[in-house]
Amino acid sequence: MGATDVAVIGGGLSGLVAAARAADSGAKVTLLERSGVLGGRATSQVEHGSTLNQGPHALYVGGTAARTLRELGVSWTGAAPHSPYFFAESEGALHPMPTSTLGLLKTNLLGFADKIALARALSGMTDDHALDDVPASEWISRLVSGRARNFLSALVRVSTYAADLEQLSAGAAMRQLRLAGNKGVMYVDGGWQHLVDELATHTRARGVSIVLGCAARHLSREHGMWKVTAEGTEPLFAHAVVLAVAPRVAHAIVPESEHLLRVANECVPIHAACLDVTLAKLPNPRHHFTLGMDSADYLSLHSAFARVGADGAAVFHVARYLRGDEGRGDDAARVKMELCALLERAQPGWQEHALYTRFLPRMVVSNALPLAKSWGKRAPSAVADASGLFCSGDWAADSGMLADAAVASANVAGVLARGTLAARAVA
Ligand SMILES: Cc1cc2nc3c(=O)[nH]c(=O)nc-3n(C[C@H](O)[C@H](O)[C@H](O)COP(=O)(O)OP(=O)(O)OC[C@H]3O[C@@H](n4cnc5c(N)ncnc54)[C@H](O)[C@@H]3O)c2cc1C
Repeated sequence: MGATDVAVIGGGLSGLVAAARAADSGAKVTLLERSGVLGGRATSQVEHGSTLNQGPHALYVGGTAARTLRELGVSWTGAAPHSPYFFAESEGALHPMPTSTLGLLKTNLLGFADKIALARALSGMTDDHALDDVPASEWISRLVSGRARNFLSALVRVSTYAADLEQLSAGAAMRQLRLAGNKGVMYVDGGWQHLVDELATHTRARGVSIVLGCAARHLSREHGMWKVTAEGTEPLFAHAVVLAVAPRVAHAIVPESEHLLRVANECVPIHAACLDVTLAKLPNPRHHFTLGMDSADYLSLHSAFARVGADGAAVFHVARYLRGDEGRGDDAARVKMELCALLERAQPGWQEHALYTRFLPRMVVSNALPLAKSWGKRAPSAVADASGLFCSGDWAADSGMLADAAVASANVAGVLARGTLAARAVA
């Protein structure tokens, strides 16, 4: 493949953004993607004309991903998920889901004292880092009890995807709740594939050369450059490399790096089980959303808010925020059955109208939960024991969660890779 200034390994959102950022300096950038398509976990699938993301995907309107995509020229439309048909499920009963202060005051989900405690907790949230080393579960218990505790825990789960609140940093949880509360989220018309496709167009327009179906296998130093050995092709030589892949993959590519081994061992991933369903007809048009109060479950009719359903089809994303080993191996069947039952309670008889059903038992939503024991911090972008080597992804971000973390780290890694070239030019 010859030589390039910056090689980016991985063509998900993070790799595409890192490549675009590096190319903005005029550097020659080559991106290698293992699969035949770009986008990684942000790709969507089209079934019977309807678009399904890989599990529920909502873009944080005030987050780093939305801001960066806009800066890079990506545009999109869509809508915030709000309707009167949102429900909280508690002790087997459905209650209207409070989504505003007024809704909180009116709900029959909580008693008066719980409402006051919860309103106080929600209005007292700040962006400071004082709670970064406190587990989210402990922080929630300090603020509220009983059903209000269940409610606040459910809000944390839906905005962070994390069910393991004993390990999650309360500071990270609070910042994510504020992000969700301040500007909210948006379901994107055409699914996240639209974001991927536009981002790929703008990345290519910056001169980035993209090689699909090319899995990087090994990195080594040769003649002062990085030699990228990839499957089925000639090696690529680069002055700087961005690893925009999962931490275990990064370490497998650079097995000599103690830094990457330590990071891969320390990361605690966030997993979710996802039931993605398209229905020809909606059995119950008055049910759009369920959030479990005493379960870690979620259901949302994405097609009620974004253009993802074809010819009036309904697109549901149903999910469970998993703890520990839940959903692994034989346990997947139980989780699937419980998610189908959740959909049945919302949409009785849905199976008669099903056009397409897909169950993804243990998706990696994020490679690294911001841990209370590490003050919510994740791996740095620069690989400490290898110069000119950088990481990008949800595990290498110093701020944000989910796609915001993946993109924030890509912004940093792209600029650092560029910096390596500038330093070489000066030397
Ligand atoms: C179920 C689910 C729900 C989610 N919901 C939300 C949400 O609501 N809001 C939100 O902000 N985020 C959400 N996310 C997170 C979001 O999808 C991710 O943060 C983002 O897509 C990660 O992008 P990435 O580029 O870092 O990683 P990936 O998308 O994993 O990309 C890595 C890429 O590297 C490639 N690769 C791997 N090995 C190699 C190799 N050896 N050589 C070359 N290429 C390689 C892979 O094929 C892949 O394309 C969700 C994720 C999931 C799974």
